[in-house]
Amino acid sequence: MRSLDRGDFNQDIKKRIESVIKDYHLIDKEDRIAVALSGGKDSVLTLYALQELKNKLDFELLAISVDEGIGGYREDGLRLAREHSLKLGIELVEVSLKDEMSLTLDQAAKFYQTACVPCGVFRRYLLNRAAHKLSADKLATGHNLDDEVQSFLMSFARADTRRFNKFGPKLDRIHPKMVPRIKPLWMILEKEVGIWAVLNDIEVHMAECPYAYTSFRSNLKNYLNGLEEKRPGTKRNILNSFQKTFRFDRSEKTIKLYECERCGEPSSISLCKACEMKEKIEKELK
Ligand code: SF4
Repeated sequence: MRSLDRGDFNQDIKKRIESVIKDYHLIDKEDRIAVALSGGKDSVLTLYALQELKNKLDFELLAISVDEGIGGYREDGLRLAREHSLKLGIELVEVSLKDEMSLTLDQAAKFYQTACVPCGVFRRYLLNRAAHKLSADKLATGHNLDDEVQSFLMSFARADTRRFNKFGPKLDRIHPKMVPRIKPLWMILEKEVGIWAVLNDIEVHMAECPYAYTSFRSNLKNYLNGLEEKRPGTKRNILNSFQKTFRFDRSEKTIKLYECERCGEPSSISLCKACEMKEKIEKELK
Protein backbone atom coordinates (compact mmCIF):
# COMPACT_ATOMS: atom_id res chain seq x y z
CA MET A 1 0.00 0.00 0.00
CA ARG A 2 1.35 3.45 -0.95
CA SER A 3 2.10 5.72 2.01
CA LEU A 4 0.34 9.07 2.16
CA ASP A 5 2.32 12.16 1.30
CA ARG A 6 1.62 14.79 3.97
CA GLY A 7 2.03 17.76 1.64
CA ASP A 8 -0.31 16.31 -1.03
CA PHE A 9 -2.88 15.32 1.58
CA ASN A 10 -2.87 18.77 3.19
CA GLN A 11 -3.19 20.45 -0.21
CA ASP A 12 -6.13 18.23 -1.16
CA ILE A 13 -7.97 18.90 2.13
CA LYS A 14 -7.34 22.64 1.88
CA LYS A 15 -8.50 22.72 -1.76
CA ARG A 16 -11.75 20.92 -0.92
CA ILE A 17 -12.49 23.18 2.06
CA GLU A 18 -11.83 26.26 -0.07
CA SER A 19 -14.11 24.89 -2.80
CA VAL A 20 -17.02 24.44 -0.38
CA ILE A 21 -16.44 27.98 0.96
CA LYS A 22 -16.45 29.43 -2.57
CA ASP A 23 -19.10 27.22 -4.21
CA TYR A 24 -21.63 27.81 -1.45
CA HIS A 25 -20.61 31.42 -0.63
CA LEU A 26 -19.92 30.61 3.01
CA ILE A 27 -17.72 33.64 3.66
CA ASP A 28 -17.91 37.21 2.33
CA LYS A 29 -15.06 39.71 2.22
CA GLU A 30 -14.41 41.38 5.62
CA ASP A 31 -16.66 38.90 7.44
CA ARG A 32 -15.96 38.31 11.11
CA ILE A 33 -15.95 34.51 11.52
CA ALA A 34 -16.22 32.82 14.93
CA VAL A 35 -15.14 29.16 15.07
CA ALA A 36 -16.97 26.95 17.57
CA LEU A 37 -13.86 25.37 19.07
CA SER A 38 -14.21 22.30 21.30
CA GLY A 39 -10.61 21.08 21.00
CA GLY A 40 -11.78 17.99 19.06
CA LYS A 41 -10.26 17.16 15.67
CA ASP A 42 -13.07 18.65 13.54
CA SER A 43 -13.13 22.06 15.17
CA VAL A 44 -9.32 22.18 15.32
CA LEU A 45 -9.05 21.47 11.57
CA THR A 46 -11.70 24.14 10.94
CA LEU A 47 -9.60 26.64 12.92
CA TYR A 48 -6.34 25.77 11.12
CA ALA A 49 -7.95 25.74 7.66
CA LEU A 50 -9.66 29.10 8.16
CA GLN A 51 -6.48 30.58 9.62
CA GLU A 52 -4.67 29.58 6.40
CA LEU A 53 -7.39 31.09 4.22
CA LYS A 54 -8.15 34.29 6.13
CA ASN A 55 -5.68 36.58 4.35
CA LYS A 56 -6.41 35.18 0.91
CA LEU A 57 -10.19 35.49 1.34
CA ASP A 58 -9.94 38.61 3.51
CA PHE A 59 -11.89 37.83 6.68
CA GLU A 60 -11.36 38.10 10.45
CA LEU A 61 -11.17 35.08 12.72
CA LEU A 62 -11.90 34.39 16.39
CA ALA A 63 -12.94 31.31 18.37
CA ILE A 64 -15.55 30.47 21.00
CA SER A 65 -15.38 27.49 23.38
CA VAL A 66 -18.28 26.24 25.47
CA ASP A 67 -17.80 24.47 28.77
CA GLU A 68 -20.99 22.44 29.19
CA GLY A 69 -19.91 21.13 32.59
CA ILE A 70 -19.08 17.50 31.80
CA GLY A 71 -16.76 16.52 34.64
CA GLY A 72 -13.56 14.67 33.73
CA TYR A 73 -14.12 15.23 30.00
CA ARG A 74 -14.45 18.83 28.91
CA GLU A 75 -11.36 20.14 30.74
CA ASP A 76 -8.91 18.54 28.32
CA GLY A 77 -10.78 19.82 25.27
CA LEU A 78 -10.66 23.34 26.69
CA ARG A 79 -6.93 23.04 27.36
CA LEU A 80 -6.37 22.11 23.69
CA ALA A 81 -8.69 24.87 22.47
CA ARG A 82 -6.58 27.37 24.44
CA GLU A 83 -3.28 25.94 23.20
CA HIS A 84 -4.26 25.91 19.52
CA SER A 85 -5.73 29.41 19.54
CA LEU A 86 -2.66 30.73 21.34
CA LYS A 87 -0.36 29.02 18.83
CA LEU A 88 -2.26 30.53 15.88
CA GLY A 89 -2.67 33.93 17.56
CA ILE A 90 -6.47 33.74 17.44
CA GLU A 91 -8.62 35.34 20.15
CA LEU A 92 -10.52 32.68 22.15
CA VAL A 93 -13.65 33.53 24.12
CA GLU A 94 -14.81 30.94 26.66
CA VAL A 95 -18.38 30.62 27.91
CA SER A 96 -19.68 28.17 30.47
CA LEU A 97 -23.11 26.75 31.10
CA LYS A 98 -22.48 27.15 34.84
CA ASP A 99 -21.82 30.91 34.52
CA GLU A 100 -24.55 31.60 31.98
CA MET A 101 -27.38 29.31 33.17
CA SER A 102 -26.32 28.37 36.73
CA LEU A 103 -26.27 24.64 35.95
CA THR A 104 -24.00 21.98 34.49
CA LEU A 105 -24.68 19.29 31.94
CA ASP A 106 -23.92 16.67 34.58
CA GLN A 107 -26.87 18.05 36.61
CA ALA A 108 -29.15 18.28 33.57
CA ALA A 109 -28.28 14.84 32.16
CA LYS A 110 -30.20 12.82 34.73
CA PHE A 111 -33.53 14.25 33.64
CA TYR A 112 -33.23 13.16 30.00
CA GLN A 113 -33.08 9.82 28.23
CA THR A 114 -29.90 11.06 26.58
CA ALA A 115 -27.65 13.91 27.76
CA CYS A 116 -27.20 14.94 24.13
CA VAL A 117 -30.67 16.55 24.12
CA PRO A 118 -29.94 19.29 26.73
CA CYS A 119 -26.30 19.44 25.56
CA GLY A 120 -27.30 20.29 21.98
CA VAL A 121 -29.89 22.87 23.05
CA PHE A 122 -27.63 24.67 25.56
CA ARG A 123 -24.52 24.57 23.35
CA ARG A 124 -26.33 26.03 20.32
CA TYR A 125 -27.86 28.68 22.58
CA LEU A 126 -24.55 29.71 24.20
CA LEU A 127 -22.62 29.67 20.93
CA ASN A 128 -25.18 31.79 19.13
CA ARG A 129 -25.48 34.26 22.01
CA ALA A 130 -21.69 34.63 22.34
CA ALA A 131 -21.21 34.94 18.56
CA HIS A 132 -23.89 37.64 18.37
CA LYS A 133 -22.39 39.57 21.32
CA LEU A 134 -18.99 39.41 19.61
CA SER A 135 -20.53 40.83 16.40
CA ALA A 136 -19.62 37.71 14.41
CA ASP A 137 -21.13 37.55 10.92
CA LYS A 138 -20.95 33.73 10.77
CA LEU A 139 -20.38 30.89 13.19
CA ALA A 140 -18.16 28.15 11.68
CA THR A 141 -18.74 24.68 13.09
CA GLY A 142 -16.67 21.53 12.60
CA HIS A 143 -19.52 19.48 11.10
CA ASN A 144 -18.05 17.04 8.61
CA LEU A 145 -19.68 14.86 5.95
CA ASP A 146 -20.27 12.03 8.44
CA ASP A 147 -22.06 14.37 10.90
CA GLU A 148 -24.27 15.72 8.14
CA VAL A 149 -25.29 12.27 6.90
CA GLN A 150 -25.96 11.09 10.48
CA SER A 151 -28.11 14.16 11.25
CA PHE A 152 -30.07 13.72 8.07
CA LEU A 153 -30.79 10.04 8.71
CA MET A 154 -31.69 10.74 12.36
CA SER A 155 -34.28 13.30 11.30
CA PHE A 156 -35.48 10.95 8.59
CA ALA A 157 -35.89 8.08 11.07
CA ARG A 158 -37.79 10.36 13.48
CA ALA A 159 -39.99 11.77 10.69
CA ASP A 160 -38.76 15.20 11.85
CA THR A 161 -38.89 16.77 8.39
CA ARG A 162 -38.73 20.33 9.79
CA ARG A 163 -35.07 19.70 10.58
CA PHE A 164 -34.30 19.13 6.89
CA ASN A 165 -34.01 22.92 6.78
CA LYS A 166 -30.85 22.67 8.88
CA PHE A 167 -28.92 20.68 6.28
CA GLY A 168 -26.45 22.07 3.84
CA PRO A 169 -23.12 23.87 4.36
CA LYS A 170 -24.71 27.22 5.20
CA LEU A 171 -27.72 28.28 7.23
CA ASP A 172 -29.00 31.71 6.34
CA ARG A 173 -29.73 34.49 8.81
CA ILE A 174 -33.41 34.11 9.69
CA HIS A 175 -33.45 36.52 12.65
CA PRO A 176 -31.26 39.56 13.41
CA LYS A 177 -29.94 37.82 16.55
CA MET A 178 -29.37 34.45 14.86
CA VAL A 179 -25.78 34.20 13.61
CA PRO A 180 -25.71 32.11 10.40
CA ARG A 181 -23.82 28.84 10.77
CA ILE A 182 -21.35 27.62 8.16
CA LYS A 183 -19.77 24.17 7.80
CA PRO A 184 -16.42 24.40 5.95
CA LEU A 185 -15.77 20.63 6.45
CA TRP A 186 -19.06 19.69 4.80
CA MET A 187 -17.34 17.58 2.11
CA ILE A 188 -14.62 16.10 4.35
CA LEU A 189 -15.00 12.61 5.82
CA GLU A 190 -14.40 12.19 9.55
CA LYS A 191 -11.70 9.63 8.75
CA GLU A 192 -9.85 12.26 6.69
CA VAL A 193 -9.96 14.71 9.59
CA GLY A 194 -8.35 12.05 11.79
CA ILE A 195 -5.66 11.41 9.17
CA TRP A 196 -4.96 15.17 8.96
CA ALA A 197 -4.39 15.36 12.73
CA VAL A 198 -2.08 12.32 12.75
CA LEU A 199 -0.06 13.31 9.65
CA ASN A 200 0.50 16.82 11.00
CA ASP A 201 1.11 15.71 14.57
CA ILE A 202 -1.67 17.98 15.86
CA GLU A 203 -2.84 17.14 19.37
CA VAL A 204 -6.64 16.97 19.50
CA HIS A 205 -9.16 15.94 22.14
CA MET A 206 -9.75 12.27 21.40
CA ALA A 207 -11.55 11.12 24.57
CA GLU A 208 -15.11 9.97 24.10
CA CYS A 209 -17.79 11.90 25.95
CA PRO A 210 -19.08 9.79 28.90
CA TYR A 211 -22.62 10.30 27.59
CA ALA A 212 -21.92 9.32 23.96
CA TYR A 213 -23.12 5.73 24.47
CA THR A 214 -26.65 7.04 25.21
CA SER A 215 -27.04 8.73 21.84
CA PHE A 216 -28.90 7.60 18.75
CA ARG A 217 -26.15 9.29 16.74
CA SER A 218 -23.45 6.99 18.05
CA ASN A 219 -25.46 3.86 17.05
CA LEU A 220 -26.01 5.29 13.60
CA LYS A 221 -22.36 6.28 13.31
CA ASN A 222 -21.22 2.69 13.96
CA TYR A 223 -23.72 1.37 11.44
CA LEU A 224 -22.64 3.83 8.73
CA ASN A 225 -18.95 3.11 9.38
CA GLY A 226 -19.67 -0.60 8.84
CA LEU A 227 -21.47 0.17 5.56
CA GLU A 228 -18.67 2.46 4.38
CA GLU A 229 -16.09 -0.22 5.07
CA LYS A 230 -18.00 -2.77 2.99
CA ARG A 231 -18.99 -0.29 0.27
CA PRO A 232 -16.66 2.73 0.16
CA GLY A 233 -18.48 5.85 -1.05
CA THR A 234 -21.77 5.06 0.73
CA LYS A 235 -21.67 8.19 2.92
CA ARG A 236 -20.97 10.49 -0.02
CA ASN A 237 -23.78 8.81 -1.98
CA ILE A 238 -26.25 9.44 0.86
CA LEU A 239 -25.21 13.10 0.99
CA ASN A 240 -25.58 13.43 -2.79
CA SER A 241 -28.96 11.69 -2.74
CA PHE A 242 -30.49 13.97 -0.17
CA GLN A 243 -29.12 17.02 -1.91
CA LYS A 244 -30.87 15.90 -5.09
CA THR A 245 -34.06 14.74 -3.42
CA PHE A 246 -34.87 17.54 -1.00
CA ARG A 247 -35.28 21.23 -1.53
CA PHE A 248 -34.04 23.29 1.38
CA ASP A 249 -36.34 26.26 1.69
CA ARG A 250 -35.17 28.44 4.57
CA SER A 251 -37.20 31.48 3.69
CA GLU A 252 -38.97 33.40 6.46
CA LYS A 253 -42.22 31.88 5.23
CA THR A 254 -41.15 28.46 6.47
CA ILE A 255 -39.32 29.41 9.68
CA LYS A 256 -40.74 32.26 11.73
CA LEU A 257 -38.70 33.37 14.73
CA TYR A 258 -39.65 35.71 17.57
CA GLU A 259 -37.74 36.71 20.71
CA CYS A 260 -37.92 34.68 23.91
CA GLU A 261 -39.99 36.59 26.50
CA ARG A 262 -37.44 35.69 29.20
CA CYS A 263 -33.97 36.04 27.67
CA GLY A 264 -34.66 37.85 24.39
CA GLU A 265 -32.90 35.22 22.26
CA PRO A 266 -34.45 34.03 18.97
CA SER A 267 -37.20 31.46 19.45
CA SER A 268 -40.04 29.91 17.45
CA ILE A 269 -42.35 30.13 20.51
CA SER A 270 -42.75 32.57 23.42
CA LEU A 271 -40.22 30.77 25.67
CA CYS A 272 -37.05 29.51 23.99
CA LYS A 273 -36.00 25.88 24.35
CA ALA A 274 -33.02 26.75 26.58
CA CYS A 275 -35.15 28.77 29.04
CA GLU A 276 -37.82 26.04 29.03
CA MET A 277 -35.19 23.38 29.82
CA LYS A 278 -33.54 25.51 32.50
CA GLU A 279 -36.92 25.99 34.19
CA LYS A 280 -37.71 22.27 34.07
CA ILE A 281 -34.28 21.23 35.40
CA GLU A 282 -34.36 23.80 38.22
CA LYS A 283 -37.78 22.47 39.33
CA GLU A 284 -36.46 18.89 39.31
CA LEU A 285 -33.35 19.90 41.29
CA LYS A 286 -35.35 21.54 44.11
S1 SF4 B 1 -21.97 13.05 23.20
FE1 SF4 B 1 -23.84 14.15 23.71
S2 SF4 B 1 -23.53 14.92 25.78
FE2 SF4 B 1 -21.52 14.38 25.00
S3 SF4 B 1 -20.71 16.28 24.13
FE3 SF4 B 1 -21.71 15.17 22.46
S4 SF4 B 1 -23.81 16.00 22.42
FE4 SF4 B 1 -22.89 16.56 24.41
